[in-house]
Amino acid sequence: MPKSKLLKLMLAVPLLALLGACAHAPEEAHNPLARWAPSPNHEARRPILIVIHATEQNSVAESLETLRTENSGGPVSAHYLIGRDGERYQLVADELRAWHAGGGRWGTITDVNNVSIGIELDNDGRSEFPAEQIDSLLVLLEDLCTRLYIPRTQIVAHADFAPTRKQDPGMRFPWRRLAQAGFGIWPAADAPPAPDGFDPWNALRLLGYPLVDRAATVRAFHRRFRGTETDVLDTEDLRILASLVQQAGGE
Ligand SMILES: [Zn+2]
Repeated sequence: MPKSKLLKLMLAVPLLALLGACAHAPEEAHNPLARWAPSPNHEARRPILIVIHATEQNSVAESLETLRTENSGGPVSAHYLIGRDGERYQLVADELRAWHAGGGRWGTITDVNNVSIGIELDNDGRSEFPAEQIDSLLVLLEDLCTRLYIPRTQIVAHADFAPTRKQDPGMRFPWRRLAQAGFGIWPAADAPPAPDGFDPWNALRLLGYPLVDRAATVRAFHRRFRGTETDVLDTEDLRILASLVQQAGGE
């Protein structure tokens, strides 16, 4: 074989291999139970929920370490981390499954990591959230909801779906401010009292709250909507729940 022809062949073989690799998904992506008949009409899956966290640590540097290493409590991560000065960091791509949610249940969603974007806010769990940090979060929420088509109501606290394990982002997080900017849910200021016979547990369940430990769920609900951590429902809670359920179209 002439030298030039041999060279051409040597160049062609890896090229063919490369083309072959492009035309087919990796072998492990195929289910052997079915014949592989690939379609080009697809894209990365998109999340449908945004989870707000507080780091409950002392600095962005400390949290960047925790969220990017195999720390003593096991490896954890989040898609984004926002500093108290508003600086945003992205640690995991939007289309990938970050490890921020852990166990829990929101409505029928039993694997929150699989369908959500996790946003950590640098906060020690006791301090107020600075305006710069919340302004920065609002910019990110606008981007995520617009770009990924996440419904603006679908923004929850970590504690909302894991009330027995988690408290973050805590009762100082300004959910009312988020609602004023069009994110999350908030009761109408002029909502009437709940009707007679109104079932608050059914309302909590409709909103997505798990009812495995009712006292823990009420504490999570109070942190978010009342700025307290008590665990007994009152008539104001019923009024709030009735308004939220009405907005959600559940009644
Ligand atoms: Zn959290």
